[in-house]
Amino acid sequence: MLHHQKIYVDGSWTRSYGGETIDVVNPTTEEVIGSVPQGTAEDVDAAVGAARRAFPGWAGTSPARRAAYLNRVGERLREDSLELAELITRDVGTPLAFSHAAQIPLPILTFHQAARIAVEFPYERRAGSSLIVREPFGVVAAITPWNYPLHQIAAKVAYALAAGNTVVLKPSEVAPLGAWELAAIFDDIGLPPGVFNMVSGTGPVVGEALAAHPGVDVLSFTGSTEVGKRIGRLAAATVKRVALELGGKSPSVLLPDADPDQAVPHAVTSAFLNNGQTCCALTRLVVPRSRLAEAERVAEQAAAAVTVGDPMSFDTGLGPLASRAQRDRVRRHLVQAQKEGARFVTGGTEPPDGLSRGYFVRPTILSDVTPWMAVHHQEVFGPVLAIESYDTVAEAVQLANDTDYGLAAAVWSEHRDRALTVARQIRAGQIEINGAGLNPTAPFGGYKQSGNGREHGVFGLEEFLEVKSLQTKPWQL
Ligand code: NAD
Repeated sequence: MLHHQKIYVDGSWTRSYGGETIDVVNPTTEEVIGSVPQGTAEDVDAAVGAARRAFPGWAGTSPARRAAYLNRVGERLREDSLELAELITRDVGTPLAFSHAAQIPLPILTFHQAARIAVEFPYERRAGSSLIVREPFGVVAAITPWNYPLHQIAAKVAYALAAGNTVVLKPSEVAPLGAWELAAIFDDIGLPPGVFNMVSGTGPVVGEALAAHPGVDVLSFTGSTEVGKRIGRLAAATVKRVALELGGKSPSVLLPDADPDQAVPHAVTSAFLNNGQTCCALTRLVVPRSRLAEAERVAEQAAAAVTVGDPMSFDTGLGPLASRAQRDRVRRHLVQAQKEGARFVTGGTEPPDGLSRGYFVRPTILSDVTPWMAVHHQEVFGPVLAIESYDTVAEAVQLANDTDYGLAAAVWSEHRDRALTVARQIRAGQIEINGAGLNPTAPFGGYKQSGNGREHGVFGLEEFLEVKSLQTKPWQL
């Protein structure tokens, strides 16, 4: 049992003003495995105050010194990676092999990468008679989701600190345990008090207090589009900088010359990644109508090859969804899709055989999906792939773009240039061609209602840097 009694404020583990706790549930067993404090607005005041006091000192340290702290965090995460991978699997339900392959390596990479970029970044440049200076904003509030709990935290905290800001983190209450390990590492390595603070709690209380707080300069949020809109409105009252990383409904487009045997299994793997709970998952497969039957057959085979079960087993490819609420939401989406005329190629609304305990959902492939159905537009966030078909390439592009989201996409073709031409027409922040993998140094973020920020790499650092221009007389340059 991991009962965390304290939050982390001003370099110390302190009691929350509230005294209530939130249970943490293992989604595989449905058992309580720990708890965290249910923070309050007073806790947020204390954390923001500490971060404000710490800001001038931290902003005044050299990038090299800040990088040394971040590299130390990366090393400590690596040392603890076996235990951390198991912790994330118990907290989120991610298959253990994937926790080892992504849930922990990605944050390690992020801390080291932020450190390197902080040192290499040109903070000053000239523009005519002006000196353009990039400076940290001040206090960054980071509000994060549960699906890649440590990775989403790292993308914000590592880059915000690298740029010289101080931070108040509110981790997701659904999967908070990894955040405690990270806070303990910051404490162990002797980060100056107040530079990193963590207040756990619910979104409506702790999250909204941060969004509205006049002492917060930047609000960096990753989560659902619905909550992103709400906190954007709250933050507007104090004209904070707001960076939103939101949901997606990303298409994988097979051009007529693409090979379904390569493209379709890739789409299935992407849709089922992290138990179908990945923001940039390719959850719509857009295929030529003449190849629909072939695509369905390959997708069905790929889904049948996935082992569903205990995520602590290395053979498991699909574990439970992260919470009862998430499992119920996915089932409701499936019921509605069926009502609206989508056809189950495989899967369904019943739990997988032999898995009545745990928040499991069958790996599901839907076909005959059209833009009139909710499942074409709405993020399901479960192991569900929707197949749609087209007659012309123009129609394929239209289908790909026909949602409010624009986070990611994929294009498949025998001819790279044909794929690139279509990729340029798709309104999304990152597009993979012929199965090329994620590049963690490339900017990550959304078009349209998938958000307005960019994380990782140089863009991820710039997100946390304000711009100042110093005008001088030309002869004094
Ligand atoms: P969520 O929006 O429910 O919660 C995200 C965070 O916001 C949590 O910490 C939550 O406590 C907090 N929150 C909830 N209500 C709030 C409120 N009223 N005010 C302030 N904070 C509030 O999202 P989730 O269910 O945790 O995560 C899943 C969503 O996150 C999906 O939509 C997914 O696509 C998205 N996501 C996006 C990215 C990206 O980079 N674009 C990455 C991961 C997840």
